[in-house]
Amino acid sequence: MSKPVRHILSLSGGKDSTALAIYMRERVPNMEYVFCDTDKELKETYEYLDKLEGFLGKKIVRLRDERGFDHWLDIYGGYLPSSKMRWCTKVLKIKPFEKYVGDDEVMMYIGIRADENRGGYVTSKPNIRPVYPFIEDGLALDDIHNILDESAIGFPAYYSWRTRSGCYFCFYQRKHEWVGLKENHPELFEESKRYEKFNATTGERYTWSERESLEELEHPERVKQIKEQHLARLADQVKDKPKKPLLEILGQDEGDDDILPCSFCHT
Ligand code: SF4
Repeated sequence: MSKPVRHILSLSGGKDSTALAIYMRERVPNMEYVFCDTDKELKETYEYLDKLEGFLGKKIVRLRDERGFDHWLDIYGGYLPSSKMRWCTKVLKIKPFEKYVGDDEVMMYIGIRADENRGGYVTSKPNIRPVYPFIEDGLALDDIHNILDESAIGFPAYYSWRTRSGCYFCFYQRKHEWVGLKENHPELFEESKRYEKFNATTGERYTWSERESLEELEHPERVKQIKEQHLARLADQVKDKPKKPLLEILGQDEGDDDILPCSFCHT
């Protein structure tokens, strides 16, 4: 007799995958919940997952690659990951997930919303079938907010200064989120700075952000400028959508970069 199909929901520690877990709780009672832990997450993410675990009444399985980020950074020759070379997601998130799944037939539930325009999880494993319930059911940002409010789970605590889940040094962070990291977790900002390198012989810079090192970014004048630009952008958006709650505007703010965040880490 063939094994039954497994249903697995991969949590990122962000609002959308959390809302999806709440949304699917009654619909798929035998759901397995997993979180691929890079060991470089914010403490707010772990707290948010613990809160969700209490609500679901089910264990969230924590998966990790025991060798960790620093090992892989060495293997990749000290090249910090970037949107063009995102080795971190592959080795710290996707591989541990695929190892956990093995050869079992799996339906993998992903929290991409109907109002988003980004690709999902791409796998070479034919036994993993990604499904997108929010897209299938037409659920957008407003609906996600309602689900989180009604369940009383709410938003992750980092939401006041950063809207994306993921590693504290994630290169997908916008400039004002780096400022937020410095103000909320100065020790993690310092840790992030330590990863950046400058090769005086070749002139190569290994920085998290393509155009600026964190040392340049943390300069008081630059911080002031980043904050002003961020506030001006928010003010424009509030003007355009006066009836929208600020949290919703924050969630839709695509910031000063035009790269789309990774769906495995940031849902
Ligand atoms: S959160 Fe960012 S840095 Fe961390 S694994 Fe994902 S893409 Fe890489």
